[in-house]
Amino acid sequence: LASEQSRASATPMMEQYIEIKANNPGSLLFYRMGDFYELFFEDAVDASRALGITLTRRGQHMGQDIPMCGVPIHAADDYLQKLIGLGFRVAVCEQVEDPAEARKRGSKSVVKRDVVRLVTPGTITEEKLLVASESNYLMALARIRGSAEAQMALAWIDISTGIFRLAETDPSRLLADILRIEPRELILPDTMFHDAELKPVFDVLGKVAVPQPSVLFDSASAEGRIARYFGVGTLNGFGTFSRSELAAAAAAVAYVEKTQIAERPPLGRPERESGASTLFIDPATRGNLELTKTLSGEREGTLLKAIDRTVTGGGARLLAERLMSPLTDPERINRRLDSISFLREEPGLCSDLRSSLKHVPDMPRALSRLALERGGPRDLGAILAGLEAARGVAAFLDKAMLPEELSDALADLKALPSSLESLLANMLADELPLLKRDGGFLADGAHAELDEVRALRDQSRRVIAALQLQYAEETGIKSLKIKHNNVLGYFIEVTAGNSGSMTETPEGKARFIHRQTMASAMRFTTTELADLETRIANAADQALTIELEAFGQMVSAVTAQAEAIKAGARALAVVDVAAGLAMLAEEWNYRRPIVDGSRMFSIEGGRHPVVEQALRKQSVGSFIANDCDLSPTGSSEFGALWLLTGPNMGGKSTFLRQNALIAILAQMGSFVPAASAHIGIVDRLFSRVGASDDLARGRSTFMVEMVETAAILNQASDRSLVILDEIGRGTATFDGLSIAWAAVEHLHEANRCRGLFATHFHELTVLSEKLNRLSNATMKVKEWDGEVIFLHEVGPGAADRSYGIQVARLAGLPHSVVTRARDVLAKLEDSDRKNPASQLIDDLPLFQVAVRREEARRTGPSKVEEALKAINPDEMTPREALDTLYALRKQL
Ligand code: ADP
Repeated sequence: LASEQSRASATPMMEQYIEIKANNPGSLLFYRMGDFYELFFEDAVDASRALGITLTRRGQHMGQDIPMCGVPIHAADDYLQKLIGLGFRVAVCEQVEDPAEARKRGSKSVVKRDVVRLVTPGTITEEKLLVASESNYLMALARIRGSAEAQMALAWIDISTGIFRLAETDPSRLLADILRIEPRELILPDTMFHDAELKPVFDVLGKVAVPQPSVLFDSASAEGRIARYFGVGTLNGFGTFSRSELAAAAAAVAYVEKTQIAERPPLGRPERESGASTLFIDPATRGNLELTKTLSGEREGTLLKAIDRTVTGGGARLLAERLMSPLTDPERINRRLDSISFLREEPGLCSDLRSSLKHVPDMPRALSRLALERGGPRDLGAILAGLEAARGVAAFLDKAMLPEELSDALADLKALPSSLESLLANMLADELPLLKRDGGFLADGAHAELDEVRALRDQSRRVIAALQLQYAEETGIKSLKIKHNNVLGYFIEVTAGNSGSMTETPEGKARFIHRQTMASAMRFTTTELADLETRIANAADQALTIELEAFGQMVSAVTAQAEAIKAGARALAVVDVAAGLAMLAEEWNYRRPIVDGSRMFSIEGGRHPVVEQALRKQSVGSFIANDCDLSPTGSSEFGALWLLTGPNMGGKSTFLRQNALIAILAQMGSFVPAASAHIGIVDRLFSRVGASDDLARGRSTFMVEMVETAAILNQASDRSLVILDEIGRGTATFDGLSIAWAAVEHLHEANRCRGLFATHFHELTVLSEKLNRLSNATMKVKEWDGEVIFLHEVGPGAADRSYGIQVARLAGLPHSVVTRARDVLAKLEDSDRKNPASQLIDDLPLFQVAVRREEARRTGPSKVEEALKAINPDEMTPREALDTLYALRKQL
């Protein structure tokens, strides 16, 4: 398209189009033509298919029809939403001069146009395109190859709220860090995009990962670029950042500039997040535990959905953020818990706050749109409503003995500018139009000159009403009407039958000037009416000019207070989250957990937050609460492992997950579904639950299971919590049992973490005899008349049987198959009794030995080994050999 020949043969407009299109590869070009955005060539074909709109043609190019489709301006947001949702990026090209200017240059000139904005998933601000309860992050990934190891960092920005954060990362935790933030768009240098080591990460992210030219990530110019954005000389006042963090931050900022072109969204200062301050949850665990999305990608049925009682968009976003990044600092966690405790103890406060909060609109997003000159009168209305609601919230919150988090929030609420509130309250009308160009958003009495102009307009309208009466009388046509449309303006309309009397006027001259003949009516005007019309039009123009000027002043007044408004909005979100969690605690009887720096993990009467609610909703009985105690016992400083056996459907997975979820809830600063809970900070949470296939990536279920298990055994520390559900299931029995056996030993001896291990291999229960921090627990069942009843109760000990056949029978397997399976089982059990796997415990050396050997290999040869290597037995006398042996023995 961009070839010389192509350009030369194009019409002037097409020439302009082709040039702009060439400068914006990778985006659909929305080319402004009057009241439409038009798309041409391939863009038109793609967009018409994606949007389900008609594909037509406009003119020809190099002898071929040009495919074209268009979307009307007023509906453009809807179409943009759909396109962005489908993964397209859109360059919006507007007319950047008055068409009159172009005409002055000559009849053939085209109006100047330019791309004013790139719409990409990570850089949207429109209310329609955003989800109120979700953040909309653009993330940049940068890597510095220094003299030592490569350094990586992430920067993420939500331009709809101004949040700007940074963190270092490394290849082993990159995906986990990205998934924790859930960016809509991740930009990275194109060189890194093709890096084999990182490819699996980008494969998972799919369309979210967008390669960009490497210059965007240049670290040498990074600091200057960020400083320029914030209009400061140096970044010293912002804190210290690593080179990779600066590169990532500068890339994110550059991308915002690149997509927003002329405008600068008001970003907060970049804040650093250290990896150690949040609970590390690896990607598989995040998925398995269904924190914010179920395995099938839905919101319904997730932990977030179960605990969300917030009433504002900002609150919902903050809650999701806390859930995605639970803390590891007991002090910060307890500060959040203090807020909930306080709200629980003040009767009525919670519901008062929530009723005020319900009126809080999305202030940060309205603010961003206003600052980007994309805002309308309703965004000003949102700021006003927010300021008013904030005052209400502050009044309720103003109490003695307020805990720290809430008193900080109160301070921010009180610091909101009341002058701005009264300015907006005085200026804005009650009903606000969407677009400022529609006018009518200034209140009566807000502006003296405007009031005069409006009075003039209204008076003229009254005069017109009087004219209608007068004309009707003059002509004797009762049905004569004065009407208005956009083409003719004001006109007089009579039915065709009456039109004869219109020329006969008292003075005998043609007072009524004919304008239009319709099938059943005729339209006229008069000089009087035309005069009035001009007066009304002038008044409307004048009114709009005044209103637009006032709009600009209000926007300036708002953006001047951007910092205070953002802090206030953040405070409202904090209050909303605390009040929501307090409500939740009340509703479902959650209790405050004890969270400290110990290695305790003691939960009494714990419940699964999601299953509990689902059971009640479906009225299918109530949830059976269960205890879990993985705290250090006896002289050991390390936490314990539980080996959980029991039949299928007995509730093992539910129990495993509920304990992980309780840990997450506690560390995000929420009360927990338990009678009591004492949790020593968990630094990393790992789970391997269920069998999720990854066949699309060519990995069998078993392979996925082993990859995930390997990650756990390699990374879990003695402060971690590990949840393993039936590992070794995807392979032959002996293989599986051996792997599970070795994994339990490794967790106990090498990782020394707290953990729950559910298994079908009853043989493993003998391990508790040798591993002192391992105990057996089982899901209790009752047998009744050959049927099995699940009690969902966890108790000490081991299950004696699997009840697999009973469960199969419940599931409706044919009777003949069930009977036959019973016979086969009896035979197998008989042969197992003769040679039980439990005998292994006596036959195998302790795993510890194996661990030491492995450690030795890692730390290099010992002195004894060195000495042994140096010996040449063939050259020794028996005496020397004996001495050497004694010497070696001494070194042990
Ligand atoms: P398993 O992992 O042992 O096969 P699940 O954990 O999948 O069993 O539980 C099977 C079903 O039993 C779940 O769908 C759940 O509805 C129910 N269930 C599990 N635990 C409980 C409990 N503590 N109280 C009530 N119902 C439970």
